[in-house]
Amino acid sequence: MKPTSDLAPTTTQTSRADRDHRTGLILSLLLGLVLAGVQFAQPQLHDGAFWLPASLHAICEIFAVTVAVLVFAVTWHSYRPAQPTNLLLLGCAFLAIALLDLAHALSYRGMPDMVTPASPEKAINFWLVSRLLLALTLLLMSLRPWRPLRSYRSRLPMLLATLGLVALFWVLGLGFPDVWPHTFVNSHLTPFKITAEWIIIFLLAVAALRFLSAWRHGLPYAAGNLMAAALISILAELCFTAYNNVHDIYSLLGHLYKVASYCLIYQAVFVASVREPYERLAVAIADRQAAEQRIEVMAFHDSITGLPNLALLQDRTLQALAAMRRDDTCVGLLFLDVDAFKLINDSLGLEPGDRLLRAIGQRLLHGLPESATLCRYGSDEFAVLLPGLNGPEAMAEVPQRILDLMATPFEIDGQLIPCSVSIGVALAPNDGHEPNSLLRNAESAMYKAKQAGHRTWRYYDAAIDSEVSERLHLLNSLRQAIERSELQLHYQLQFELASGEVVAAEALLRWQHPELGAISPARFIPIAEESGLIVPLGEWTLRQACRQAAQWRTAGIGVPRVAVNLSPLQLHHHSLEDAVRRALQDASLPASALELELTESSLIADTAQVLHTLESLKRLGIKLSIDDFGTGYSSLGYLRRLPVDTLKIDQSFVRAMATSTDGTAIVEAIIQMARSLGLDTLAEGVEDQATASQLQQLGCQLAQGYFFARPVPASEILTILTRHEGLRGA
Ligand code: C2E
Ligand code: CA
Ligand code: CA
Repeated sequence: MKPTSDLAPTTTQTSRADRDHRTGLILSLLLGLVLAGVQFAQPQLHDGAFWLPASLHAICEIFAVTVAVLVFAVTWHSYRPAQPTNLLLLGCAFLAIALLDLAHALSYRGMPDMVTPASPEKAINFWLVSRLLLALTLLLMSLRPWRPLRSYRSRLPMLLATLGLVALFWVLGLGFPDVWPHTFVNSHLTPFKITAEWIIIFLLAVAALRFLSAWRHGLPYAAGNLMAAALISILAELCFTAYNNVHDIYSLLGHLYKVASYCLIYQAVFVASVREPYERLAVAIADRQAAEQRIEVMAFHDSITGLPNLALLQDRTLQALAAMRRDDTCVGLLFLDVDAFKLINDSLGLEPGDRLLRAIGQRLLHGLPESATLCRYGSDEFAVLLPGLNGPEAMAEVPQRILDLMATPFEIDGQLIPCSVSIGVALAPNDGHEPNSLLRNAESAMYKAKQAGHRTWRYYDAAIDSEVSERLHLLNSLRQAIERSELQLHYQLQFELASGEVVAAEALLRWQHPELGAISPARFIPIAEESGLIVPLGEWTLRQACRQAAQWRTAGIGVPRVAVNLSPLQLHHHSLEDAVRRALQDASLPASALELELTESSLIADTAQVLHTLESLKRLGIKLSIDDFGTGYSSLGYLRRLPVDTLKIDQSFVRAMATSTDGTAIVEAIIQMARSLGLDTLAEGVEDQATASQLQQLGCQLAQGYFFARPVPASEILTILTRHEGLRGA
């Protein structure tokens, strides 16, 4: 600890010290008024010799000596090297003052003889030395910086010097009263005595002024009390310049004032030596405890949600597993992953995304059993520990309760955000004997729930482990697929039903894995979306497709437009507009030759940002269509606000037309609705002539499907076009 830190007062200490100081000042003022009152009182008051009888004098002095000894004892015993030396000096001086005052009391008229007979002069001599010592000490205190002692060992010599000095005065005062100048002759004070008192008063006044300025500057903390002590001592001295007889009222007041000033000094050293260090210690301990608590919270809790973190979960899981072995119970571990959180987070922004996570945490926390521990595991992942279960059935209702809890949308910034989770469940002892394996297994069960279509839960099953590792393997190879040129675009033509003319070609990704062979986009696109890899992948597709379209144009091949699929994540990514603009520029392709296919799900989080992006794309001149229409949640009113051109009726409805009248009714309804909104319709997955004709009758303008053309590499488009022209010509 730095020495100065021991001296610097804390805020509460400063205010309390200020209060003490003010009390001291008011006391000095009051005592001054009393003295002034006495001064102006009747003369007989001054002359009375009954005010301070020897007995009362003895009591006053015993009291003063006791307080002075206390001052010494407190400073001496509480002394630590970090404390200011001034306290020690003050303590030693007060030991001397106590002993001198004792000698003064013993020499007082009316006391038994000590070596030489008691007399006023003998008493006055000890008194004067004691007063002078007090004045010099206070002056020294006021002048000396309040620094700690350089060497702890200088304390004992200081005490010995004090005792030596006192011994000298005792010998001189008691043994040789005649060597002292006269101070009290014929019941009157001599000029020497009065001059000596005035010198003392002067020294005290200088000390008081110094203390005043030190107090006003805030340091040291004892300054205010010492100043009041100096002021009251001055009053005491004034009394002793004025008395005519050692028993009169001035003598009484002088003694009482002396005791008062000692008490103030005692308070100052007590505060400085005991109370302040004690309070500082209490504050330091409280600070340390608070810091320890903060560290604990930070080490074991997540900063965003305030929930326990993984470390705490592992610790509690260990405890739960130990209890499980002891009590023959089960432990459940649930792994929760927020569905499509990336998408929500991108559309909301970082800060509201955090708020959503907090809200999810809070809602779950309140809905879970009390014995459960809810922890934030990763970005959008949570884990729930259920200890002490009587069996698997005991927890079966928990995952369902979580799904129910999540069913109500969350309100973030005035927007209602629908949000669901997929849950994986592992149960100890069957699915793992230690925290990490349990967690891992619950996590793979969660992937199973995701595959089952999100918003659901699955138990852990050893067989799914291999699926999860396969997904991870696919993700890793997908990262390198672009560089290794394993990705390619195939194109599927789209036609106008009435004229049979080609209106566009949809670009569809193909992945030829070196070991696994062709991998369907239906398999790798979801992996790319979950990992965020879809953003660079989508930009690559966009560039490739634009370049291809430009090539067809320059070669005079009749494909007026290229349609590119956009993943929801891309739409919410801030770089989309730039990426589109750059792709068009690089390929020198007019915007009208590009169409973007959006999925309904990407439009659900209908934020201002999405609308803004769509509008600026539209302004560029790009066509926009909604893919897989009918499988999402789009409402009519909602579609009206979007600047789209075409609805692509999902294959499932088109296929259903062949088998049921309901299927036809749905497709008809979609076409009518689109027409009412001024939108074109394109039927996907048209596989036969009958469906094509039926669609045309229902008023569908465009179609795409194996019946017209399969997706093929760009190089084969010309062949298809030629064959098609031939068919049309025929
Ligand atoms: P989608 O956008 O609905 O694409 C149409 C899918 O239907 C394609 O499957 C296509 O080969 C298939 N198809 C076309 N006509 C017929 C038909 O008459 N009968 C049947 N049974 N199927 C037909 P594909 O190429 O496997 O793509 C699957 C999905 O993968 C696409 O569905 C799309 O959502 C996604 N995808 C493909 N390429 C990309 C891409 O570059 N970016 C993004 N974000 N998604 C893509
Ligand atoms: Ca599509
Ligand atoms: Ca589609």
